[in-house]
Amino acid sequence: MEQVFPLGPIAVYLHNPFCLKPCPYCSFYRVPYHQRQQSDYLRLLIDELKLWKRKFGRKIEAKSVYFGGGTPGLLTADGINKILQEMQLEPDAEITLEINPIQITPSFTNELKTTPINRISLGVQSFDDEMLELLGRRHRAADTPAKMQLLRDAGYDNISLDLIYGLPTQTLAMLEKDVEGLIGQRPQHISTYLLTLDDDSPMAMEIDNQKIPPLAEGDLAADMYEMICGLLAEAGYLHYEISNFALPGYEGKHNLSYWKSEPYLAIGASASGWLPPWRYDNPADINEHRANIQAQLLMPAKELRQGKDEEDDFLMMGLRLTRGIDRDKFKHHFGHDLTEQRQAAIDKLLKLGMIKLDDNRLRLSEDALFISNSVIGELL
Ligand code: SF4
Repeated sequence: MEQVFPLGPIAVYLHNPFCLKPCPYCSFYRVPYHQRQQSDYLRLLIDELKLWKRKFGRKIEAKSVYFGGGTPGLLTADGINKILQEMQLEPDAEITLEINPIQITPSFTNELKTTPINRISLGVQSFDDEMLELLGRRHRAADTPAKMQLLRDAGYDNISLDLIYGLPTQTLAMLEKDVEGLIGQRPQHISTYLLTLDDDSPMAMEIDNQKIPPLAEGDLAADMYEMICGLLAEAGYLHYEISNFALPGYEGKHNLSYWKSEPYLAIGASASGWLPPWRYDNPADINEHRANIQAQLLMPAKELRQGKDEEDDFLMMGLRLTRGIDRDKFKHHFGHDLTEQRQAAIDKLLKLGMIKLDDNRLRLSEDALFISNSVIGELL
């Protein structure tokens, strides 16, 4: 199957896998930071972009760029600029950098201002020092307001804060303080994550060995989610995706491309992309990835997603948005209404109050958001 390259601007994700210190709950692909290896990896990212440029036959037109990791804030400003010079950025492109709070200093923000980064995603995670200790994070709750101030003084007015919840020993009252701490910083965007662990993560092993209590689950986890949604709504945040909240006008453009099943390019070790009809994964190994790029091999592991597979992906991603799926768009793309071949499942879920369907849209009901995976699963 020939690749049909997107004609217009697309979203671009870049993965920087280096971290200063591994966090005990983390399952992302990451490796210990070494300055030399980081510089070599920067060259690899640029080579990969150049290779794509040759494939596309022109500079990659980017409507959003997301530097994720790992710890992408370990890239230098010069490195970020070199990467971005390989692309044609749309005038209103959203360019996000994930940053670890401990990295933010006046000299860091001064450097960052020399780049086109215009959105910051800050891994705050909690405002409780005991929880931050448990997560292996190096910043403390009292650091966050000062770090936010440094970012604001440098002119950053589109900041997203991350919250992790459902931690061992965490109570509803503790989480309430965390959410109030987040709201107090008035970020433009908030992403929340219910902590889940891979079996071989250090934290999962500590729980197995009964060194720390288990994660929140069942009713407690559901109550936590409900409380987060309620407090953020009261504070004026729009709940636009299952786990994401934004002040009006600040929905994350990059991630919206994922949820709308728009094409996106993935650059770097372990990154995953979608260039219809292919979903592809780069290997989670820098050396293997480098060997592929040197051999001019892009999309080394790819899967054809067409017909029912593509519809399933579209539903799975689109129903994460609280506004749901536009039926006309679905019909235009797939040639039939989304109720076709799903009527029985739709009737059942309507009866259970798990979905809402009208002439224009299909969406999950509020009650279904916390158990979205199983509800969406019924429709696939
Ligand atoms: S959570 Fe982030 S900083 Fe911590 S090890 Fe994972 S990728 Fe690195």
